[in-house]
Amino acid sequence: MLGGEVLVQRVGDLRHGRRSTPGRLARGLLEPTLKTATPGDLSLVLPYRHLADILEMLETLDRLAPGVNSAHTLLYGAEVKFYSLQLRLSAALETEIPHLFAVGDGAGVSRGLVQASVSGVIAAREIAGRLEAGEGG
Ligand SMILES: Cc1cc2nc3c(=O)[nH]c(=O)nc-3n(C[C@H](O)[C@H](O)[C@H](O)COP(=O)(O)OP(=O)(O)OC[C@H]3O[C@@H](n4cnc5c(N)ncnc54)[C@H](O)[C@@H]3O)c2cc1C
Repeated sequence: MLGGEVLVQRVGDLRHGRRSTPGRLARGLLEPTLKTATPGDLSLVLPYRHLADILEMLETLDRLAPGVNSAHTLLYGAEVKFYSLQLRLSAALETEIPHLFAVGDGAGVSRGLVQASVSGVIAAREIAGRLEAGEGG
């Protein structure tokens, strides 16, 4: 029912409560760039509140970028991400092994580019501070 791949659905179909089909997609103005996506119905995989929020966001965004909320706009879903467990770290992101720091997604302290970058800065400042203070290791 859901297809074996990422789902793709036209906004118009989603609003009308019907699944997108290869025929409906072919009649649309946009051609999916992800060729392996299966035409389907995102309302079968996303909770109602999430879908309502997405549609509301498209309506609002349409005022800034007219056309975004077109019936032909294609939505892909659902993205699922898995993250590492968080390591036991100090506030400066040092592990229980002295002088070994862990930052970014691998350490489980971030889930995005900005947070991963910032966690690197936190550890780097701590290391720089220790070097300045003459603490080797
Ligand atoms: C599909 C996708 C979409 C995303 N979209 C967004 C987004 O829109 N906005 C956002 O903020 N974040 C997004 N993210 C998350 C973001 O990419 C990560 O949070 C961020 O890249 C983590 O940075 P990092 O430095 O911790 O790890 P990474 O960027 O994963 O860097 C780890 C590096 O270590 C290297 N490595 C691994 N093992 C070894 C080894 N043994 N020896 C040497 N090197 C090794 C890897 O090759 C890699 O280069 C997305 C992630 C994915 C997967």
